[in-house]
Amino acid sequence: MKHNNIAIFIPHIGCPHLCSFCNQVSISGEKNIPHGEDVRRICSLAITDIYDKKNTEIAFFGGSFTAIDRDYMTELLSAASEFVGDGKFKGIRISTRPDYIDDDILMTLKHYGVTAIELGAQSMSDKVLSANERGHSADDIREASALIKSYGFELGLQMMVGLYQSTEADEYYTMCEIAALKPDTVRIYPVAVLQNTKLCELYNSGEYKLYDFDKAVEICANLLYMFEFMGIRVIRIGLHSSEEVSSNAVAGFYHPAFKELCESRIFRTIILSTLREKKGSYMVYVAKGALSKAIGQKKSNIEYFKQSGLNITIKESSGLNGYGISIKEVK
Ligand code: SF4
Repeated sequence: MKHNNIAIFIPHIGCPHLCSFCNQVSISGEKNIPHGEDVRRICSLAITDIYDKKNTEIAFFGGSFTAIDRDYMTELLSAASEFVGDGKFKGIRISTRPDYIDDDILMTLKHYGVTAIELGAQSMSDKVLSANERGHSADDIREASALIKSYGFELGLQMMVGLYQSTEADEYYTMCEIAALKPDTVRIYPVAVLQNTKLCELYNSGEYKLYDFDKAVEICANLLYMFEFMGIRVIRIGLHSSEEVSSNAVAGFYHPAFKELCESRIFRTIILSTLREKKGSYMVYVAKGALSKAIGQKKSNIEYFKQSGLNITIKESSGLNGYGISIKEVK
């Protein structure tokens, strides 16, 4: 069932920190601060427009929601809660930092109908968290996650790929540690280096070197495959496209269809595992709806195999699902 969010962005006012990668104005793409009446106006419009209300949440994204002034937070929640319940929206979704979660905050969120809490974990390596000035530890993430689950909220965890001082091993370690916390959802954000951030300074000075784009796709594809294999839903890979981010990104892995690049890479790896060391022509069958992912953008997978002496044709077959494939040699 498709899930919808009515996204309301809370700019950087919500957060007393400044992480190495964060330029909240750029990320949220919104400079104005919403108030209760703005929430009511947005929700009133959405409630008449959205048919599938029971799969729709009002989502406060962009800053650290539970770090904002408490009166302001309850003003927003109170307005949103008027649109949650029978015949209205499913609930409220918020994103915040792990060190701004405690019993008092969780009871307040419960009271106003919050259903899902996403934590910006970013990395489970204390070395990487510290190098990127997150101001919290991996244990803070573990403790906050356990507390959120104990209150019955849906737990979402967000991780970044390619942070300053993060190695490939750190990315996979973070994936394993996040999976161990049993989140309901995960978001994977390959780094976009935005202007006016510490990452941008480090990048310009040569101190911070990024993976090349292809390596970032390979890592994110592996993370996606492994999270899904473990039954954890990956609800996003890559920042949402917005004019502000594309015009503020000076480097990094910003691409409007990053998830599709990763899905194509997964198909390439799976096909390759069967055809390694082979030459000739092959028909590859994939699940219905997976054709464009298996072929890749601009036929990248077809071209990739051609360069290794393999002539691949890809077709859909109703007997397959997910990343399942079936291969026949064409004589
Ligand atoms: S915690 Fe989130 S909002 Fe605050 S500075 Fe870091 S990335 Fe930005």
